[in-house]
Parts: sequence; C-alpha cells; structure tokens
Amino acid sequence: TPGLYIVATPIGNLGDITLRAVDVLRRCDGIACEDTRVTGKLLKHLDISKPMWRYDDHSEHRDRTRLVESMRDRAVALVSDAGTPMVSDPGYRLVNDCRAEGIPVTALPGACAAVTGLALSGLPNDRFLFAGFLPSKDKARRETLAELAGVDSTLIFYETAPRLAKSLAAIEEVLPEREVAVARELTKLHEEMRRGLPAGVRAYFDANPPRGEIVLLIGPPPESVASEEEAEIMLVAALRTMKASQAAGQ
Ligand code: SAM
Repeated sequence: TPGLYIVATPIGNLGDITLRAVDVLRRCDGIACEDTRVTGKLLKHLDISKPMWRYDDHSEHRDRTRLVESMRDRAVALVSDAGTPMVSDPGYRLVNDCRAEGIPVTALPGACAAVTGLALSGLPNDRFLFAGFLPSKDKARRETLAELAGVDSTLIFYETAPRLAKSLAAIEEVLPEREVAVARELTKLHEEMRRGLPAGVRAYFDANPPRGEIVLLIGPPPESVASEEEAEIMLVAALRTMKASQAAGQ
C-alpha cells in the first residue's frame, strides 16, 4: 500500500534486520536514504534491487514535496545509514510533511544504538534521557553536562571515537562521582563495554585509544541525593504539622 514506511536497519551486525523490514524493502517502490552507497550495500546483502533517492532534512523543499507527492500512489521506505531513522538521523521533516498531506505513515522498529547501549551498560533504566551528541566546543560541552546534572535519569549520548577523551575529561570535571559507561562497536566484532567512575574509564581509554562507534552513558545521581531531598520535604511537613497542632492547642 502507498505511503511512507520508516524502516530501522542494523547498527553493525546485518543479522539484526527484522523480517518485516526485509519484506517492506522488498515490496516498496523505492527507498529514501541518507547515503545511497551505504544503503546500496545493505540491499546487495539482502539481494534487493530498488531505486534509491538521497534524502536528508536539509534537502531542498522542492525535492521533499516531490517525494511526498510520489507517496500518493507509491510505497516509499525511509532508512538511515544505521539504526532507527530520526534518532540523531534525518526524517523528521519528511514525516511531518506526510502527516500534513494526509499520506499514511508507519514505522518498523528495530536496532537503535542508544537502547542497545543502555541495555548492555546495566545502568538503571527505569528513567533515561537520550541527549544526542554533546557539543563539540569545550565550554558548551561542560555547560550541557552541568545543565543535565540534576536530571534524575541515566543520560545517554552518542559519541565519536576522536572526541571520547574530551567528553570523559569534561564528565570527570563536572560529574566526578557519577558512574559512566562506554559502549563501543555494538553488535560488531570488537564490541566492548567499560563502566566505572569517570577518572578510571578515562584512564583506560587514554591507554587504549578507542576506534569505531560509541554510546556514552552517565548513571543517575546517587540515591542519597534524592533521599536527602525527600528527608527535607518530610522534615518540613513534620514541622508544619507540629506548628499546626501547637497553634490548635494554644
Ligand atoms: N539512528 C542511529 C540509531 O538508531 O542508533 C544513530 C545514528 S547517529 C548519526 C550515529 C551514532 O550512533 C554514532 O556516532 C554512535 O554514537 C552511535 N552508534 C551507531 N552505531 C553504533 C554501534 N554499533 N555501536 C555504538 N554506537 C553506535
């Protein structure tokens, strides 16, 4: 059926494509992708041959409109280079234009580095905040970390190998007591997970400069902080009750 199919693709291990993704890629009329070479390799592996169109959210408005219009009678799959489209990847504008034009949109779930890194890290996962890439400038990076310091959740960032050292140094400076986890090359041959206090993890990667793709996670603030706040709230409430009963007694 015509419309837009948002299709998640593997983040490394090609075995992670879903049966439904293969089916949609096989049956669609064409594929909108970030990089035709990257998607071309995946299609070749799956033995699928389809027209591909390069798409990113900065593509000309005219091209996007044409693509959206084509979906009135064609099924178009949207993929990114890896993982789930729109998670730090293009697609947002296309989906919104489809919605505005009444084109049916559906999404096929699959691999996502942020979620895979979270699972592998073993950090608390009842609440987590995905914050994309940290800024590349030192000051902005520290400011972002300081801004997120109070969020009572595990924090998840995408990271690049050349920038990991700087990010770990900034975390060591701003949040020295918080546990960090570095998930590298997820689902690939050299998959690695390192977890510990920022100083220790930084020292490890200083000695073993990383390669490949990285998810960086920061554990939530220690529970004692939360319970101190709770204790304060309870204390204030108790004092109020005492005052009220004193006032009533007088
Ligand atoms: N849309 C993708 C997803 O769903 O995970 C993410 C795209 S984003 C442009 C690319 C970043 O994702 C990389 O810089 C890295 O931080 C992370 N990433 C992607 N694949 C990864 C992998 N196999 N292992 C670790 N991190 C990965």
